[in-house]
Amino acid sequence: MREQGVYQQLRSHLAYLRLATAAEQLAPALEQAEKEKPSYTRFLERLLATEVEATEQRKLEGRLRFANFPTQKTLADVDYDAQPGLDRTMVEELATLRFVEDKGNVLLIGPPGVGKTMLAVALGRQAAETGYRVYYTTAADLVARSQRAALAGRWQTTMRFWNGPALLIIDELGYLPLPAEAASHLFQVVSRRYEHGSIILTTNRGIASWGEIFDDTTVATAILDRLLHHGTVLTINGPSYRMRRHQERIETLRSGLSATPKGGEFA
Ligand code: ADP
Ligand code: MG
Repeated sequence: MREQGVYQQLRSHLAYLRLATAAEQLAPALEQAEKEKPSYTRFLERLLATEVEATEQRKLEGRLRFANFPTQKTLADVDYDAQPGLDRTMVEELATLRFVEDKGNVLLIGPPGVGKTMLAVALGRQAAETGYRVYYTTAADLVARSQRAALAGRWQTTMRFWNGPALLIIDELGYLPLPAEAASHLFQVVSRRYEHGSIILTTNRGIASWGEIFDDTTVATAILDRLLHHGTVLTINGPSYRMRRHQERIETLRSGLSATPKGGEFA
């Protein structure tokens, strides 16, 4: 009877501490302990491990809800045979998430349908599963929300929001041309996150034709500068360059930006 009182006391301690899973698991854990006679530490460790696991799962679900991903695709869904233009070595390097740790950026370039959104989201999911806060938005949405916020006097708050996640995915830059004011919102986001958090940006325009997305070439150059300084360029079309070659080409492409050739060739 006394033991039963202690048991009730323990359950109410667990409930008071909001350790719901441990409270739920207490009875079966005690039953198992009767048979296996684990040490005190082992028993406590096992019981609390169930709580840790449940908490981690809950947090992950929260991060995935917050992330706003448009698809449920994961890196395991990426079919490299179907997309020979995709550099597997580079994707695997990105999947280590070293770029998130280093607060670096990824630029995914390629024509519609080659899997840019899929890859960005799959990398985002990997990051969310690792524990990073991730948020997905399209470039058009980012700009529209920033503009609305500015009109409503909430611009700073919105800028803080864009700055919050460890990884911000900005999808579909270049489908719509960006007038100067819109581009300046994007510039603010990129520049505030610079060396502070990662961005994966996808675009259907090669770097050399970024001048066509932006009315203002200076802003285009400023955005590119920040993105590429600690950036990896992954082109899903044409020849499969290795990361090192990309890094070498960045300088050339950056200096070529002001020349802005017409046409949609991919960097
Ligand atoms: P993009 O964003 O470049 O326009 P998406 O990521 O939307 O392309 O891809 C178009 C469709 O093709 C999606 O349903 C996507 O899941 C699929 N897809 C693209 N590339 C691959 C791939 N390498 N492996 C498996 N599915 C792919
Ligand atoms: Mg897309």
